[in-house]
Amino acid sequence: MLSSSTASSLRLHQPTRPHRRRPPSPPASHQFRSPASRRHLPSVRARRGGGGTIRAIDAAQPFDYESRAAGLLEERQRLKIAIVGFGNFGQFLARTFARQGHTLLAHSRSDYSAAAASLGASYFQDPHDLCECHPDVVLLATSILSAEAVLRTLPLHRLRRNTLFVDVLSVKEFPKNLLLTSLPEDFDVICTHPMFGPESARDGWDGLPFVFDRVRVGDSPARRARADVFLNIFEREGCRMVEMPCADHDAHAAETQFLTHTVGRMLATLDLQPTPIDTKGYETLLRLVDNTCSDSFDLYNGLFMYNKNSTELLNRLESAMDSVKKRLFDGLHEVLRKQLFEGKASPPTNKNAGDVRRKPLLLEGNAASSPPTPNNTAVHLK
Ligand code: NAP
Repeated sequence: MLSSSTASSLRLHQPTRPHRRRPPSPPASHQFRSPASRRHLPSVRARRGGGGTIRAIDAAQPFDYESRAAGLLEERQRLKIAIVGFGNFGQFLARTFARQGHTLLAHSRSDYSAAAASLGASYFQDPHDLCECHPDVVLLATSILSAEAVLRTLPLHRLRRNTLFVDVLSVKEFPKNLLLTSLPEDFDVICTHPMFGPESARDGWDGLPFVFDRVRVGDSPARRARADVFLNIFEREGCRMVEMPCADHDAHAAETQFLTHTVGRMLATLDLQPTPIDTKGYETLLRLVDNTCSDSFDLYNGLFMYNKNSTELLNRLESAMDSVKKRLFDGLHEVLRKQLFEGKASPPTNKNAGDVRRKPLLLEGNAASSPPTPNNTAVHLK
């Protein structure tokens, strides 16, 4: 416990400052703290009212200290993020990054300066200018197909020596290998896949899965903290954070995402339309077509080309269709066989008799001459 004389001498040494003074401007380059040291900062708040020690000093001092600490804490949660590939998905992510107060830079093949300005982002047509701004994070949001070529256009030597690279490509092993082989060893790498998009996350990200793999994060508190601050963007929005190796992601994603997109694309070729008697199931199919076909074909093509599990999934899908058809036609065959051999009809002699799909046509005459029974109703199904 401080004596009153100690307290007054401390007070004498405190410069007079207005309450709630703004914290000083941050240094040009952010100094990230580890989560542990960040956790330490709010403890300033805990000491304010409860500890006898601090309460003995002028009330203005700890109050001011708290506001300064809170300001610094907030500043350390902000990143300078350069989005490379500012198309559909890059802009979708930028809206949330901007709302959370991060500084945004953007670069793309096309000129998106107006879209960037509307989001408060600085747009750079030239990647040299972008890299010279020394972003904390470079976020690769180009198409899967163009990722390698785009990465090669970035002048990496203009970036800070240990910049964090993050990709959001919908496949994961490919960018992991690409980034590990293309970037200097001092760069950190996190591979991510937000499992949602502008359509499916129209109403927010809450509860939606965010897959990530800390592929390479340097072993220093500042670099670990920077990675945490980036991941925290998604956590704060309520995403379900799923840490998973890239290879596991691709195995699961072929079963889920590629399948979903393939079925959506197949249904789209049928040009399905709403009817006055739509069931819930049919409405779900119409929504699936909308959700999948609003993404570019490049994206879908990338899911196929750059996920080694996709070919097998396509083959399984094809044989699944065959086996469903077979079950239906086998049943039909059974009905016809009974009709042929147990009813009045004679066995077919036509050379096409082996093709079960043609049997109802061949047997129409017989069906007309015999009364319908449970066994021969199939012949009336046209
Ligand atoms: P996309 O068609 O996969 O990618 C469009 C982006 O790629 C645009 O920024 C475009 O630049 C750039 N690009 C395409 N070809 C290029 C080329 N030859 N050279 C340079 N840049 C090229 O559509 P997206 O929906 O915006 O997806 C972007 C990334 O996010 C993809 O890797 C995708 O897998 C991933 N992702 C998308 C979603 C989603 O729901 N859409 C969800 C999760 C992850 P310009 O526009 O400047 O031409």
